[in-house]
Amino acid sequence: MVVYKFGGASVRDAEGIRNIGRIIGQTDEQLMVVVSAMGKTTNALEGLVRALCDYDLSGFDELYDQVVSTGELQSTRIVSAYLNHCGIDNEWIDITQVMVTDHAYRRANVDMDLTQRQLKSYLKTHPAKVYVTQGFIAGTTDGQRTTLGREGSDYTAALLANLLDAKSVTLWKDVPGVMSADPLQDSNARLLPNLTYEETEQILSHGAQIIHPKTIAPLKEKKIPLYVKPFLHPEEGGTEIRN
Ligand code: ASP
Ligand code: MG
Repeated sequence: MVVYKFGGASVRDAEGIRNIGRIIGQTDEQLMVVVSAMGKTTNALEGLVRALCDYDLSGFDELYDQVVSTGELQSTRIVSAYLNHCGIDNEWIDITQVMVTDHAYRRANVDMDLTQRQLKSYLKTHPAKVYVTQGFIAGTTDGQRTTLGREGSDYTAALLANLLDAKSVTLWKDVPGVMSADPLQDSNARLLPNLTYEETEQILSHGAQIIHPKTIAPLKEKKIPLYVKPFLHPEEGGTEIRN
């Protein structure tokens, strides 16, 4: 199994979703595809909850998670339906029924043992070559939806890879890979084609926002290689992060 993660920028419009179809269509491996909400949907949903509670989210965490999680449920339904339309049979997974967390709304903690058991039994009873599921969101055993922290889809991809002993994870991004500096601020920024987990952790600890900082540990534990690649140029090498 290989894990692909597509962020908000890659699913922001119809052309983005067609591009995902092309990338998946060119992949022979069994795939777990993790998708974020479209474009800035999460910000918009967050704004809705903030407006409702007069811009003071404290005490509204549970409501926040129920509302904001709909962004990913919606985007993955669209991606899954589009893939079916293109003849790429796939199984849509409601991750809130499989990935179990505590009730720490907006920063929920995943129960890895229970999630692994549920995930394995789900995949066994729903065999498929391509699975499509949500990043960032999860659920409690009593059926409440939770979220793992903003920009948490990379982290979901890493957790699923860890639990499935995946061959690799690819984060499809709107940049060529991990760069030596922010290309918007430094014209000398160059692509870093190879990094170790430790080097990547160091870069992220200095504030680079290309990968969610919690992504590395679950991959490092199982020595699963992480690729960061440009979704508009899937043939390019991007960055390879490994032991
Ligand atoms: N859609 C969520 C967010 O914008 C998760 C993610 O994009 O990784 O925070
Ligand atoms: Mg996002």
